[in-house]
Amino acid sequence: MSGKVWLVGAGPGDPKLITLMGMECLHQADAVVYDRLVNPLLLAQAPADCVLIDVGKRADHHPIPQEQINSILIEQARLGRNVVRLKGGDPFVFGRGGEEAEALVRAGITCEVVPGITSAIGGLARAGIPVTHRDFASSFHVITGHLREGKDPHNWQLLAQLDGTLVILMGMSRLAEICQTLIAHGRRADTPAAVVMNASHPEQRMVLAPLGELSEQATLAGLSAPSLIVIGEVTSLALLQSL
Ligand code: SAH
Repeated sequence: MSGKVWLVGAGPGDPKLITLMGMECLHQADAVVYDRLVNPLLLAQAPADCVLIDVGKRADHHPIPQEQINSILIEQARLGRNVVRLKGGDPFVFGRGGEEAEALVRAGITCEVVPGITSAIGGLARAGIPVTHRDFASSFHVITGHLREGKDPHNWQLLAQLDGTLVILMGMSRLAEICQTLIAHGRRADTPAAVVMNASHPEQRMVLAPLGELSEQATLAGLSAPSLIVIGEVTSLALLQSL
């Protein structure tokens, strides 16, 4: 009989930010298939004889194709194992968790989702930035900075006009372009903004700067992926931490 796959969110980085349900799954796992952004400390929570499969390694800088990851999950479940698919943050926020769930269902394998704290909200919180605030932002928008097949999936004109907090994931390689595009479409260059790198990890770092200077400041400070780009008035509250 086939085993089952749990799609588990590992949280933004600090191993204590996984849920109790996620931890319970890890304790009972026969196999854990994990990503690059998962804190390795969490793997120690799996039983000693658990099979650990790293699908985040980038051999030749090419990510492991999604189809191959889907096949690994199906194969492991068909061996009758309890499989934990451990993903950074929340499994359904830009982690292709939806595609994995679809593939499992199509293969007739039972799949259960254990949500996680997404870096887009929890990572910001660990940097002292509230994603909403009655006085500053009554909505937030989480977008990917990643191009799909070389094409930009967003309507920047629309994004530049939103008043809410804009949180951009996977955007560091295009930071300068993103800031310029928002300004070109009308977002003010003096809008408070931030880049938070390695949020919730001991080595977390943050740069606060107006949108027009964010890219330069972040580059000067040596910030790179994995980072959150945050644009909006709420970032000015991060300063409260150091008062
Ligand atoms: N499912 C994940 C996101 C996967 S996309 C989630 O819910 O958080 C990967 C992107 O998430 C990274 O490129 C980065 O932009 C962001 N990210 C994830 N963990 C992060 C962290 N600890 N600090 C800063 N950014 C992080």
